[in-house]
Amino acid sequence: MGKISKDKRDVYYRQAKEQGWRARSAFKLLQIDEEFNIFQGVTRAVDLCAAPGSWSQVLSKELKKNSSEMPQIVAVDLQAMAPLPGVIQIQGDITKLSTAEQIISHFDGAQADLVVSDGAPDVTGLHDLDEYIQAQLILAALNITTHVLRTGGTFVAKIFRGKDVTLLYAQLKIFFRTVHVAKPRSSRNSSIEAFIVCMDYNPPADYVPNMANPLMDVPYDASNPIVGSNRVIVPFVACGDLRGFDADMTYSLDGSEAERYSPRDPTQSPISPPYKKALELKRSNFYNSAL
Ligand code: SAM
Repeated sequence: MGKISKDKRDVYYRQAKEQGWRARSAFKLLQIDEEFNIFQGVTRAVDLCAAPGSWSQVLSKELKKNSSEMPQIVAVDLQAMAPLPGVIQIQGDITKLSTAEQIISHFDGAQADLVVSDGAPDVTGLHDLDEYIQAQLILAALNITTHVLRTGGTFVAKIFRGKDVTLLYAQLKIFFRTVHVAKPRSSRNSSIEAFIVCMDYNPPADYVPNMANPLMDVPYDASNPIVGSNRVIVPFVACGDLRGFDADMTYSLDGSEAERYSPRDPTQSPISPPYKKALELKRSNFYNSAL
């Protein structure tokens, strides 16, 4: 798809570039905050699965409003990410213990007020496998969260509303007093993507943070905390101003606006994308000469 047609088709993509965000996902986090005030009083935050960095940009901008001191933001991703002022970056896999340890070490005993995770695996097309890997990412994010989040803190993570999602909600309720599922207006209705907004972190009194799987490794006997109200109904909240743009609509530029408009390059192109090698081969005409 050409740059102009994508700019015309996707208003959030166009606006992200106009406003200097590295990805259109920035609007999702901003719209979640509009509804839930997740940035209120936050001075320390962790951004998991952060590349290319639009959520870190949002955090950096919004958290500065909370204190005269620089906010502390740690961003992690498998991919390299172009630097952002005031954001500590770690390149690593969040499902690995070593990455979790690096994140924890940056807090040096202090705790985070907010952990966000926009993790999405490379889709294989094998539905069950994709759902399993996504679930592993959420669990890894929650594991890291249990190590670094202060009591009362907030955890926001991308989920895909698959068949087992109500179990996930119920299990998150063990760790947080409030769990909502949010669908920001900038997230396409056609996508099963949504975000869990878990507030007021309050782990069970005897819970010891560890990198095992806290949602699955529960004992199936009388000591299992998932009893009684284990199946909770989580409110579904659409957030973002309803007068704003609809992510599934096409907004054409009209008359003079269309004449004046010229497409812009992305604010931050990927610096080492997984498809880099393929592009190099294409440029060197490898595919045609191989035929
Ligand atoms: N929030 C980001 C932003 O606003 O720029 C966009 C995140 S993007 C949708 C999903 C990211 O998840 C990708 O950059 C990918 O590399 C990362 N990711 C997937 N699996 C991961 C893992 N196991 N550990 C760390 N990052 C991972």
